[in-house]
Amino acid sequence: MRGTRPVCQTTSRIRNFTTLCRILSRHSVVNVVTKGVSMEKNALVVGLGIAGMASAIGLRKAGWNVTIIERSDRRRTGGYFVGLFPEGIDAAARLGVLDAIGIDARSVRDSRTWEVDAAGRRHRSAGFLDDPKRPVGVLRSDIEASLWETVDNTIDDIRFGVIPAAISFGPAGQAVTLRDTSTGGEREEEFDLIVGADGLRSTVRAHAFADHETCIQQWKSMICAFELDDQVPGYADRDALVFAEPGRAFWVFPYEDHNPTGLFIFRTDDIDTQLRIGRDAALEGAFGDVSVPEVQYGLAQARTTEFSLFDSTGIVDIPEWRRSRTILMGDAAWCLTLYSGMGATSAMLGGAVLGEWVARESDLDRALTGWEQEMRAFIRRQRLIARIKYEIFVPSNRFRAVLRSGMLRAAGRTVAPIAARNRVRNALS
Ligand SMILES: Cc1cc2nc3c(=O)[nH]c(=O)nc-3n(C[C@H](O)[C@H](O)[C@H](O)COP(=O)(O)OP(=O)(O)OC[C@H]3O[C@@H](n4cnc5c(N)ncnc54)[C@H](O)[C@@H]3O)c2cc1C
Repeated sequence: MRGTRPVCQTTSRIRNFTTLCRILSRHSVVNVVTKGVSMEKNALVVGLGIAGMASAIGLRKAGWNVTIIERSDRRRTGGYFVGLFPEGIDAAARLGVLDAIGIDARSVRDSRTWEVDAAGRRHRSAGFLDDPKRPVGVLRSDIEASLWETVDNTIDDIRFGVIPAAISFGPAGQAVTLRDTSTGGEREEEFDLIVGADGLRSTVRAHAFADHETCIQQWKSMICAFELDDQVPGYADRDALVFAEPGRAFWVFPYEDHNPTGLFIFRTDDIDTQLRIGRDAALEGAFGDVSVPEVQYGLAQARTTEFSLFDSTGIVDIPEWRRSRTILMGDAAWCLTLYSGMGATSAMLGGAVLGEWVARESDLDRALTGWEQEMRAFIRRQRLIARIKYEIFVPSNRFRAVLRSGMLRAAGRTVAPIAARNRVRNALS
């Protein structure tokens, strides 16, 4: 299968002489001293998600040697809806992966969003893709696959089934103990830069910054994102739909080239119980009493889908994303929750900005400070609006639910004629 890599770190790919020298010298098999090679800087990227791959590409473009380690034994596939905002599209272009994402072939430009109420009536509404910033909707796996294309062609040292077991900081630099999860074997290696792009529950963050409890603020909601076998009966392929009541919601997102994906959300004070009882029981408990056929169809699909993600949601808030020459990136650093719609955008932006800073600033400490300052300014703005977007995804009480529906239905009446015009234009072109 494409994307599957050998588990053992010593059997990762060695594609060119530079990498061969580096790996051999690191593994102490041969002591290689090659003029030029020793001048190159080495980075370890932990995590092969969007943030990790974007960072790896950014650093590689700046001339760095990059090693990527990934806990899983293979590249992740399968996806859920991800809205890509202009900043993410711009970052994808700067990383050189925009064409590979193929937005035009994937994202529905003239989607209609329907709000279904508790009585099963449909109302024209405004949806995610009607945001004034005009995001495009793709699958997370579309972005990952496009980044992978470049990573696969440019990064020689990718190790699956490997995690950072410890990170130590000494006067001479920083070292990381890498553990092969299949054999339990460990080896210490040194890098000029460590990028922790290992997601919400980051191990790098736990080793080098603070424990999860200190960094993650739970937003007391559960999500189940999944692929539908087919569009909800009675809706056109390009229709989006939403059912939103106080404390619970169901969304369906369409694509140009793929079956729709669904998203169940419900608020709860007892995350642990939901995680313990699991997806099917949790969804049944939260939505089992909803008689609306669209929601029942979604429940049946969620139970049988090949791909689903069932998890709690939380933001990461941490005063520093950098300790010495170890940095955090993407969800590990600033997870904004899926409600912000900015996770993939900010992950790609973070990698692009990092690469640009280290390319133009020879002093690594100054480059990392510049990267953090630039990203902090962007993330601060997104964090402010994430709470509002949370209410739009799943209102917290009846008053906000009524307000939300009223506003979105009014907006839906405005966007409807524009969408209709676009549909005619698309049909004629
Ligand atoms: C349902 C849903 C909808 C979303 N919608 C949007 C949206 O509309 N717009 C948007 O921009 N974003 C959205 N997001 C968020 C977005 O998907 C993420 O923010 C984005 O993918 C960035 O992820 P990441 O690379 O930082 O982390 P992850 O995707 O979590 O990747 C982390 C990687 O690190 C690996 N890893 C973990 N621990 C270790 C370890 N110890 N050692 C080695 N490897 C490790 C993991 O296996 C994984 O491959 C959504 C998220 C969800 C769940």
